[in-house]
Amino acid sequence: MNWITRWKKIGIKVKQIFKKQPLSQEATDWKNCPQCKKISYKPDLFNNSYICECSFHFDLPPKLRMDSLFDSNYEMIDAPDNIDPDPLSFEVKDGAREGYRYIDKIKKYRKATGQKTALICASGNISNLSAVVVCFNPKFGAGRFGPAENEHFLKAANFAIQKKVDIWVVVYQSSGIDVHTGVTGLAGMTKSIIAMNEIKKNNIPTFCVAARATAGGTYASSFFMHDFIIVESKCVENLLFSGKRVTANILKGTDQIPDDFGTGPGVMKSGLADITLESRKELKETIANLASIILKKEESKISNEEEIENRESDIKVSSAS
Ligand SMILES: [Zn+2]
Repeated sequence: MNWITRWKKIGIKVKQIFKKQPLSQEATDWKNCPQCKKISYKPDLFNNSYICECSFHFDLPPKLRMDSLFDSNYEMIDAPDNIDPDPLSFEVKDGAREGYRYIDKIKKYRKATGQKTALICASGNISNLSAVVVCFNPKFGAGRFGPAENEHFLKAANFAIQKKVDIWVVVYQSSGIDVHTGVTGLAGMTKSIIAMNEIKKNNIPTFCVAARATAGGTYASSFFMHDFIIVESKCVENLLFSGKRVTANILKGTDQIPDDFGTGPGVMKSGLADITLESRKELKETIANLASIILKKEESKISNEEEIENRESDIKVSSAS
């Protein structure tokens, strides 16, 4: 290593230090609202479900999400053991990012969130309906979906089917498939679709909650497999496969991209979502109401079918006698 490469490395380190500085805001008790620019006190936000006075929705920490959805106690569905989050042992051997190892990044995410994967999965009751809830954590690598997340998702789905729960809920806030894991990551698209199909075969109503940006392979796979797609608030943006710039490049000026492209109202207009809520405070009630309507329908359908079967068998018996 000569003095030029050494200087370059020092330069990169200095840049990283300056880049990391804004993160110190996380350690304070104050939060800046990007919509109204007001500074809010975190305990006040906590009491208001992390919603600013101007109705901007900050990210709700996954633990609070679970607390707000479930009636009381809930059990965590832990990530399976022995899953390799970095099957390609991804690293950069030369260039500006020399020495970059993906596993180091995963270790950082794990330490920062206390989670093994980008998902938190739990089971409990939502308005007296048994439920499994899967929630992406954007603090874990922007909620990317890799092989480890995939296995965790499958474990939760398996649990829901075996326990015959009443409803299945996934809260999406995901940047897409983990590109560092290549084909093993992409396989998550197919596997999560198969898992969703199995849940549906077992007549479990499914709810997708778009809580934040959801893009790429996650958006293009399990997201649209749900019975209901609920956009949590009007503040949700970037519900899309690829960003505006990339999409414009693909269209190459043949078509105009609308201003509301990928926003909650835009997605609703395109018919890709069923409902946009005013506030996340309405989420639990909305899920419970929709679920109870479907489950009652299913119950009456089953009892009707049983009644028809009974009548048919009565007719056969009477004709035989
Ligand atoms: Zn605000």
